[in-house]
Amino acid sequence: MPFAPTNRRHFLAATGMAVALPALAGCGGPAIDVRKQRAFRITKTEAQWRRQLTRQEYYVLRDAGTERAYTSPLNDEKRTGTFVCAGCGNELYSSAHKYDSGTGWPSFWQAIEEGAVGTSVDYKIGYARTEVHCADCGGHLGHIFGDGPRPTGKRHCINGVALDFVLA
Ligand SMILES: [Zn+2]
Repeated sequence: MPFAPTNRRHFLAATGMAVALPALAGCGGPAIDVRKQRAFRITKTEAQWRRQLTRQEYYVLRDAGTERAYTSPLNDEKRTGTFVCAGCGNELYSSAHKYDSGTGWPSFWQAIEEGAVGTSVDYKIGYARTEVHCADCGGHLGHIFGDGPRPTGKRHCINGVALDFVLA
């Protein structure tokens, strides 16, 4: 383990340095490989994750897959509550920041709090995208785009299968 962050500030500094790695690896270096090298507060072996998660959860969270649009019931979830990581239960997004982006994926204009999620640069489809993952377990959530609503202008495009909804 190259480093053991004692808080999220240190963790974010470390992830900032790690974003240069995918460029060196070229197009074939998905962000998940970089994340596996990092230290997260919650770490499990791939075998442990496979036992804990459903096949689809594993595909998204641990293999950086993408669910088909409009397949998650959470896309239409409009009740007040909190969206937590399906891998570790970390609180990630609030219904207060959810909006209908029309993309077919649950969309938020910010995370529930600073440090709840982390980002990396993903070259998986040939150009740079901002990948977003759970800050506690490193589970892949989706991507962040710059075409979101005010006040942030950000669109956190999240796979619903990576989230569990906790009704307020
Ligand atoms: Zn997590």
